[in-house]
Amino acid sequence: MKENSMYALVFRGHRFFYEVQAVAKIFIPETRFRLCEDGIIPENCQNYIETEILDSRNQIKILHVTISYHNQKKQETREISGDSSQELLEYSLCALLYACLQEITGYQPPWGMLTGIRPVRKVLQELAKNFTPEQACKNLQKQYFISDEKIKLALDTALVQQPILTHDPKQIGLYISIPFCPTRCSYCSFVSHSISTETARKLIPEYIQKLCEEIAILGKIIQEFDLSVQSVYIGGGTPTAISAQQLVQVMQAVQDSIDLGNIREYTVEAGRADTITEEKLQVIHAMHATRISINPQTMQDSVLRTIGRCHTAQQVMDAFLLARDIGFTDINMDLIAGLPSDDYAGFADTLAKIIALDPDSITVHALTLKRSADLYHVPGNISDSRISEIEDMTRLSSQILPEHQYRPYYLYRQKNTIGNLENVGYAKPGKENLYNILIMDETQTILGAGCGASNKIVFPDGNITRVMNYKFPYEYIHDFEKLMQKKQQIMTELEKIR
Ligand code: SF4
Repeated sequence: MKENSMYALVFRGHRFFYEVQAVAKIFIPETRFRLCEDGIIPENCQNYIETEILDSRNQIKILHVTISYHNQKKQETREISGDSSQELLEYSLCALLYACLQEITGYQPPWGMLTGIRPVRKVLQELAKNFTPEQACKNLQKQYFISDEKIKLALDTALVQQPILTHDPKQIGLYISIPFCPTRCSYCSFVSHSISTETARKLIPEYIQKLCEEIAILGKIIQEFDLSVQSVYIGGGTPTAISAQQLVQVMQAVQDSIDLGNIREYTVEAGRADTITEEKLQVIHAMHATRISINPQTMQDSVLRTIGRCHTAQQVMDAFLLARDIGFTDINMDLIAGLPSDDYAGFADTLAKIIALDPDSITVHALTLKRSADLYHVPGNISDSRISEIEDMTRLSSQILPEHQYRPYYLYRQKNTIGNLENVGYAKPGKENLYNILIMDETQTILGAGCGASNKIVFPDGNITRVMNYKFPYEYIHDFEKLMQKKQQIMTELEKIR
């Protein structure tokens, strides 16, 4: 399926440009598509996909798909009679294209034609219509051609989430961003600043000061609108990249400004082992965080070196054991399947080592490569055999982790994830991270402080308004006054659900 050449997508009689492209990308992921809205195949173009909708007599619509792929050709036609909505036409055309691409490429996408990032929501929606779990799965498989393995994963996740999800518009989550890391990992696409340079390090004190001011302002808004904070999540970056004293500053601001009386969880993403010290863990514990995350990504030292993380697997184990000694009873560990230079055996070994540590939750990400990641620019990263190896890694997690009492509790997919795979959070019963569930479910308002943070106001009818903070620390610090004007916008939105 790997394909670097240009593909033409030729459209006639419809405007489902985005949808057709999304289906084509499932099968030909590394390709730049040229969209030919004029319906004309470019001269000398060997690889193209034509999709067409024609009006015929007696309210019959004729759908055509023609694919020219590596000197093979595939053509299919389908008729739709009666009154046909745009929704039905879009679905039918995409399903026809999907079937043709499946046949011509021989590839069976694990998530079928489902391109959305929240498959679990689809299952929850079916369950809300009072379908039995089995019927809900059948409906979705029929519509999207999802494999048995993935629909089971989505259903298992939905069943864990169902009793946890709440829909009280007064309950909110709070996210606090610390966008600094000791160095930048090669696969990273976050807005995070390596503090290996003097210039970046110098930004931190002022950033922390502004962040504390913003937390205090959010505290007032929360009070004014009588909101109740259910979860606090300090993420990044790597929050423990800042000093213990700076962590105290931030967490003190949270304590002073937010009523933590109704809190169900308070997470600090400790992140990389090379930033974790006893002093910082003591601070986090003393300031009432209930959950931390220590993220090895892999327990293979050679892979850690390849991806630019300056710590060893031993440091991860030491940090974990230290955190347990200090009294943390809820620790998450993040892993990535498909890191460069890692293989199935390495991933299986990592999984075994992490299970032996017995954390409370384990999150398994499938490697995602975005343009902003250094690794994106390394040619030849993703062969067909590599995709299938990464599929085997995620399959191993979904088989082994439930055997050790870890249940899948949140699941999301990202664009550019290799093999169209997914990220799955597994947790022991009662250790599911509410914030992760709610951010994916999008049924709870989340207010954010710090750069890159987004304020997401969810209305009872399901509509969402987003107000974004500045992306980079420099503009966050220097345009702070302007940023505060956005708080007015947040208050105007909150007024609607008061
Ligand atoms: S620790 Fe996380 S946020 Fe920081 S550079 Fe690595 S991947 Fe990016």
